[in-house]
Amino acid sequence: MNLEHHFASLGEAFSSKTLIQPLLEQRLVEFNQSLATFLSIDIKSPATKLILSGEEKSSTSVSMVYAGHQFGGFSPQLGDGRGVLLGEVKGRDGFLYDLHMKGAGPTPYSRRGDGRAVLRSCIREYLASESMAALSVPSSRALALYDSKQAVYRETPEVGAMLLRVAQGHIRFGHFEYFFYQGKQAELDQLVNYCLQHYYPEYLTTDSPLENMLIEVVKRTARMIAKWQSIGFQHGVMNTDNFSFTGETIDYGPYGFMEDYEPDWVCNHSDHEGRYAFSRQPGVGLWNLNCLMRCFSKHLEKNQLIAILQCYEPELQSHYDYLMMKKLGLSDARHVHDLLPSLFTILAAEKMDYAVFFRLLSHISDIDVTLLLDEVVDRERLSKWLENYKKARLNEGLEWPQVSVSMLQVNPKFILRNYLAHDAILSAERGDYLPFRRLLNVLNQPFDEHPESDILAQRAPEWGRSLEVSCSS
Ligand code: AMP
Ligand code: MG
Ligand code: MG
Repeated sequence: MNLEHHFASLGEAFSSKTLIQPLLEQRLVEFNQSLATFLSIDIKSPATKLILSGEEKSSTSVSMVYAGHQFGGFSPQLGDGRGVLLGEVKGRDGFLYDLHMKGAGPTPYSRRGDGRAVLRSCIREYLASESMAALSVPSSRALALYDSKQAVYRETPEVGAMLLRVAQGHIRFGHFEYFFYQGKQAELDQLVNYCLQHYYPEYLTTDSPLENMLIEVVKRTARMIAKWQSIGFQHGVMNTDNFSFTGETIDYGPYGFMEDYEPDWVCNHSDHEGRYAFSRQPGVGLWNLNCLMRCFSKHLEKNQLIAILQCYEPELQSHYDYLMMKKLGLSDARHVHDLLPSLFTILAAEKMDYAVFFRLLSHISDIDVTLLLDEVVDRERLSKWLENYKKARLNEGLEWPQVSVSMLQVNPKFILRNYLAHDAILSAERGDYLPFRRLLNVLNQPFDEHPESDILAQRAPEWGRSLEVSCSS
């Protein structure tokens, strides 16, 4: 493994040297071979093992300092309270990727936390991040999972674990806020230059590198959230310390993948006010970008910053339209605007499963729609909608079964249902990782049929509908 240490070399204002502190009888229980190959990492080689287990004491790993707006309030100093950045490795595509270990033990930023993560939350993050990647959502990835014999206390004692994650970057909006609100202009400039060099080099030689980089951040954030909305993903904790400057989905905590269609759904039980409800995500994205832009109020004029923010909505809307068009198997955005509002009204009234609906829609032929009608109470209302939908298809000259083939490639059969994650976790906590692996396998190829795993495409049984997830992890 060829570790580089670009972020660490920014110096002590940005991070603190922190070693991984091994867990009791830590075991590597899962690793992502294709990602490891892409990064030229041999997880099982003795040298790599030493670094990842924390036994290599000369390691240059660091914990990063940042700030952030959490549920609307500003926290001037946060940081990696339980994660360390091991360094960067080069991928086969020539770009550098961060290696980041979550649950690595206390850091200078742990505050009152224990610096640890539990197996439950590591499994949830592993499954979600890999599922997102398979659904083409920019996301951190899971490279390796370790369990242990160490008890970690949450509401009850749980199994201590660590998750090795990979992302293009772990710089958050909150990194900029940390320096801006302390008036540390030199460090802010250093961070800007670092990001330009490492993540947005294409803008270095333009007239206005910072402005162009920020426009790109705004657009990446907009496209990321458009994807969340199109697949029914709810992040759960959209604080600015959980928003990446590279436009990747990071920090999987009490997230949720929408099952019954419910626009105001709040997956995080700790979010009492529904600040991060599904329907609010696009607005929160803009709110967060606004926080980010404020950090550059000494670099750019107010009207420039406003103009940058104004790129957000059109980018999000047009990307969302495009994604929904694909889901419906259509190619004209006007048809999507005509069809979507009434469809969402039906889905909400019927409490229809979002993924199941689009998968069935991908399967129905131009003639036979009974598969879908059998799913609803008000058959007439859905029939009418389907008539309009078919007209739109005809109007576009689209023919079955070609439409169906393309729809099946964007409407997943398998999503990470909460009860499935719950099942996989309970088994893993007993030492049986088979259900976790089975689930991971279908989530890795969510558009394939996997007939042997049909059961994993099914809606939650009654017991699985009321499971709660919270910030405790
Ligand atoms: P999150 O809600 O996961 O984004 O966490 C918010 C902040 O709390 C971050 O700075 C985390 O590093 C920190 N944190 C979360 N859990 C722990 C823990 N068990 N020990 C120390 N710090 C933690
Ligand atoms: Mg966080
Ligand atoms: Mg977290």
